[in-house]
Amino acid sequence: MILVFLGPPGAGKGTQCKILADKYKLKHLSSGDMLRRERQEETELGQKAQEYMDSGQLVPDDLIVAMMSKEITGAGGDSSAGVILDGFPRTINQAQELDKALEAAGKNVDAVLNLEVDDGMLENRITGRRSCSVCGAAYHIMFNKPKKDGLCDKDGAELVQRSDDTAEVVRNRIRTYHEQTAPLISYYQEKGKNRTIDGNQAIDDVTDAMCKEIDGLSC
Ligand code: AMP
Repeated sequence: MILVFLGPPGAGKGTQCKILADKYKLKHLSSGDMLRRERQEETELGQKAQEYMDSGQLVPDDLIVAMMSKEITGAGGDSSAGVILDGFPRTINQAQELDKALEAAGKNVDAVLNLEVDDGMLENRITGRRSCSVCGAAYHIMFNKPKKDGLCDKDGAELVQRSDDTAEVVRNRIRTYHEQTAPLISYYQEKGKNRTIDGNQAIDDVTDAMCKEIDGLSC
């Protein structure tokens, strides 16, 4: 099974992907996490991606497509029933390249889960996000507070903010989403793959709505 997650930054894609990957034993492939790892390891790709990520723009398609194609067509082996794509594709060109790579491997996108959230909610959701510098556990300064301010409940390590989660960069990321990624909704609607879900609801309700969609797929 190959699922694509669409939605603006702060819609809750990462949170839902982790829950669903666990429940359905799918491999969670997050292009943003992969790029952050490349940056941490100071690879050539990481260095090329840095400037785009820090300003809230998309990394050029050719770099992303090369990084993702290999992972996706190779995924879905013994340990997993398929993949959830989180943050990829993000342009029409990336979606077309994904379709080509999947077709060559005899696979296809089964469904697109499109999380819709009002723009007014996104900025607060994102600028309040914090994560553990050691284990990566996710928190929010208003909606999911740690027991002790600034420290992880699990291992006591310091909580940090993503460098692109600041207000100015967030506004650019939301604009970039509307200009370059939102057109993918029609792209997948035309193929009968799009399932829109109300992401303004509580986390558990969003998960339930997504599970209903996934359970209804014949794959
Ligand atoms: P995310 O963690 O998904 O919010 O991604 C963080 C940043 O990584 C984005 O703002 C982009 O700069 C870059 N990025 C992630 N995925 C893609 C993609 N599919 N295409 C282009 N840039 C991407």
